Amino acid sequence: MAMLLFGLGLVVVLVLLSLNNGADSEYIEYNTTRRIVPGKINVHLVPHSHDDVGWLKTVDQYYVGANNSIRGACVQNVLDSVISALLEDKNRHFIYVEIAFFQRWWRQQSNTLKIKVKKELVDSGQLEFINGGMCMHDEATPHYIDLIDQTTLGHHFIKNEFGQTPRVGWQIDPFGHSAVQAYLLGAELGFDSLFFSRIDYQDRAKRLQDKTLDVVWQGSKSLASSSQIFTGISPRHYDPPDGFTFEINDVSPPVQDDILLFDYNVQERVNDFVAAAFAQANVTRTNHIMWMMGTDFRYQYANSWFRQIDKFIHYVNQDGRVNALYSTPSLYTDAKHAADEKWPLKTDDFFPYADHPNAYWTGYFTSRPGLKGYVRVLSAYYLTARQLEFFKGRIDSGPNTDALADALAIAQHHDAVSGTERQHVAADYALRLSLGYKEAEKLVASSLAYLTQSASSSGVANFQQCPLLNISYCPPSEAILSGGKSLVVVVYNSLGWKRQEVIRIPVSTDRITVQDSSGKTVEAQLLPISNATLNIRNYYVTAYLGKSPRETIKYWVAFSVSVPPIGFSTYTISTAKQTGHGIAISSVYTSEESIDNTIEVGQGSLKLIYSAREGKLTHYANSRNLVTASTEQSYSYYSGNDGTDKDPQASGAYVFRPNKTFPIKSESQVSLTVIRGPVLDEVHQQLNSWISQITRVFKGKEHAEVEFTIGPIPVDDSTGKEITTQITTTLKSNGTFFTDSNGRDFIKRIRDFRTDWDLQVNQPVAGNYYPINLGIYVQDNISELSVLVDRSVGGSSLVDGQIELMLHRRLLHDDSRGVGEVLNETVCLLDKCEGLTIQGKFYLRIDPLGEGAKWRRTTGQEIYSPLLLAFTEQDGNEYINSHVSTFSGVDPSYALPDNTALITLQELANGKVLLRLAHLYEIGEDKDYSTLASVELKKLFPTKKINKVTETNLSANQERAEMEKKKLVWKVEGSGDESKVVRGGPIDPEKLVVELGPMEIRTFLIDFLNIRVFGS
Ligand SMILES: [Zn+2]
Repeated sequence: MAMLLFGLGLVVVLVLLSLNNGADSEYIEYNTTRRIVPGKINVHLVPHSHDDVGWLKTVDQYYVGANNSIRGACVQNVLDSVISALLEDKNRHFIYVEIAFFQRWWRQQSNTLKIKVKKELVDSGQLEFINGGMCMHDEATPHYIDLIDQTTLGHHFIKNEFGQTPRVGWQIDPFGHSAVQAYLLGAELGFDSLFFSRIDYQDRAKRLQDKTLDVVWQGSKSLASSSQIFTGISPRHYDPPDGFTFEINDVSPPVQDDILLFDYNVQERVNDFVAAAFAQANVTRTNHIMWMMGTDFRYQYANSWFRQIDKFIHYVNQDGRVNALYSTPSLYTDAKHAADEKWPLKTDDFFPYADHPNAYWTGYFTSRPGLKGYVRVLSAYYLTARQLEFFKGRIDSGPNTDALADALAIAQHHDAVSGTERQHVAADYALRLSLGYKEAEKLVASSLAYLTQSASSSGVANFQQCPLLNISYCPPSEAILSGGKSLVVVVYNSLGWKRQEVIRIPVSTDRITVQDSSGKTVEAQLLPISNATLNIRNYYVTAYLGKSPRETIKYWVAFSVSVPPIGFSTYTISTAKQTGHGIAISSVYTSEESIDNTIEVGQGSLKLIYSAREGKLTHYANSRNLVTASTEQSYSYYSGNDGTDKDPQASGAYVFRPNKTFPIKSESQVSLTVIRGPVLDEVHQQLNSWISQITRVFKGKEHAEVEFTIGPIPVDDSTGKEITTQITTTLKSNGTFFTDSNGRDFIKRIRDFRTDWDLQVNQPVAGNYYPINLGIYVQDNISELSVLVDRSVGGSSLVDGQIELMLHRRLLHDDSRGVGEVLNETVCLLDKCEGLTIQGKFYLRIDPLGEGAKWRRTTGQEIYSPLLLAFTEQDGNEYINSHVSTFSGVDPSYALPDNTALITLQELANGKVLLRLAHLYEIGEDKDYSTLASVELKKLFPTKKINKVTETNLSANQERAEMEKKKLVWKVEGSGDESKVVRGGPIDPEKLVVELGPMEIRTFLIDFLNIRVFGS
């Protein structure tokens, strides 16, 4: 205190002296030399701008500064002004995060400036790329394959243009943080640290008290300490302490150090700075603290920030109580590491996120289910298209997958697939995705034409695809069959194992026959198309394509196909003189026709038993493994809180705040229609005018598939609604359930409980919701009930033995978290708009305890990667006789092991081939499959000669060995007893066998000799 008084006194004297002398104001050279002072609190000042890749405005509107009436934000201004400000003073630093923006800016710059930026700013570390994906992705709703792809795209840009590899994860804004982010999109990228700010308010309060904001995070049980990352959680948000923001219109007092001007305030501001530094140091371990100097779309006039930071560094260091420096998260990480501390261990994840007792950000797990579904479908399509591109050979000038890659990358942003953007921005993402799809669709068609061509082919086949097949719209099947020709269906399987599945195609006649490529008749079944399906087809085809579909379809034809690994099979559908040989028209029953009140459904091992009177599922029975369970399935809705009670928190795009729950009872008399046939049975249920569903049981499968159609959700009672389904059994699950992390590891959840603190329960429903991308399951000591999903949704187990999924939401109030728009999606035909209808699927199965993982992992992979269908036509047998009808990219005797998946096969622009293999099981998850797997590269690429295989980090921007060498090692508090981590060993260049331990993903760059000779 005495020192402080003395210091103040001195300045006052100096000021008076200067004034008395009448000295001229003169140029002050600020000393901003970067130095760390041991023994003092070092304040790492990190200038940054948080630039959302779309939110209130589209990505391009943000970039050019258009639509500024919504928000004055122009990323071009940020980059232009930051670059000049950095060139002015080499002590200044800046980090840049979102490569989608940087790439836009970079391609508009002159070569002279590019060279200057690279040499003077990037090489010197003044401008550092952090995170480095195309966007700062969401962590709840994307699939891990999308996270890898979008990060790889950004990292390759940085590597190609600057030769740099980002070291730090910077996820400052996403609404909760996933385990997969920590280990996979963190440690496995070679990141030394990860920083973010949004964690539950109760969690943060405890961490502030315990000084546990900095942790070592082990996100994976399987990879444990071999894949951990130092994680820094900011003590408040991702902006500076109050009073230190300096955008042009900000209200923080600037440092006024010109003695000729009024309001000289150097000491006052230095005191503010020191006080804020001490406050943060009180909750932080080591004497290094970080201030995030910036926030959303800041530095549009960069000098307004840099000028103030220059002055603070100069005067604070003259003052000497603390040390301030220009820094970056990397320099800060190194300083934390050098302190040689032990850090608390964090496992699992940071979901769900609440910033307030009644504000659980668990609504966005389901918000915009249409966009979420579209992203997931195209994610799989992108994976498949790259395989086909690899077989044909990449053409830089197109068609290729570049536009789809870019659109999908941007769609992973934390206000894109998350569903928290404005409506016009959601439309912009969807437009980009559809344009990317169009380009990839051409590539897929040309690759299939290339692969199907044989020596005797007279011409190149013209393949069409049906992206609206899910709503029964497939023009080629209608046109070709009604034209008297045969429909040729090529079925492509992107998985590394052989698949046997049922496909469905809409047809306009019952006089057809289905054959495989050897001419053998395939057992097929005709199913009537329901009215609900026809209504959606007519409305949405008109809304999407601007023309109404021709009303010709009458049936689905369903038949079982068998497809080799990473390859295709061919089937033909021909018109027959009469109802075809081998084709069965389904028999249709209604619940009224039941004799003893029970209806049994299923032709194979699995039977579902329904009560005819009540029109609902009552029992599940599998005759193979003898599992029987009383099982019900129902719908209900939550009325969204409108924010008019004591706490004005409404349910909205981000926040789920239910008021009450209401069961949805079936309204109609004949509530159940059963359709039976040799391939599958279906149960059609129309619950009310806006919810219907079809439950399917396939002869060869032991799970039920439920296709739901929900919408338009009625809001004429002025109440927003959030629609859920419940699958209810008598399993004694004891408050415990399991949900996946980004479609990968499963994490144990306990109702009303958090591992890291004593949870105060305010929202017993919303606070128990978790993101689901792959599935959710519950178990007791006899059996386990699993549900898998086709897109990202929110879900929970609020009652023992029960699983709940939220499938759709329509809300009438904004939840005050920035988007400023209500989540009320509509679809319009001419002037008439109605609420969005969603069609989607979930899958359920009950297994004996310990046997569910096999289904979840195998079927989960098949749901993620559906078979790709392409259509062409033939006269007689002309196509089949002159084309390759069966193909597999792998050796005929080979398939990938059941516990592995090929998640990337892609020819890069430089001719190298990117290969990623993933182990699908966690340690201890399955007695047979949680073991070391091996993949033989020679059999994976039987027609190519491998010249060189280089193992890389996850984003393939550096060699794995190099990454391991420079990785920082962090010490963890407590005892280090953990089970041994299993990882595959190095690959022998002769044998070329890749081993994978549980949950391991290995990434390789392969040089082939003569890459383009395939098939010739
Ligand atoms: Zn953001």
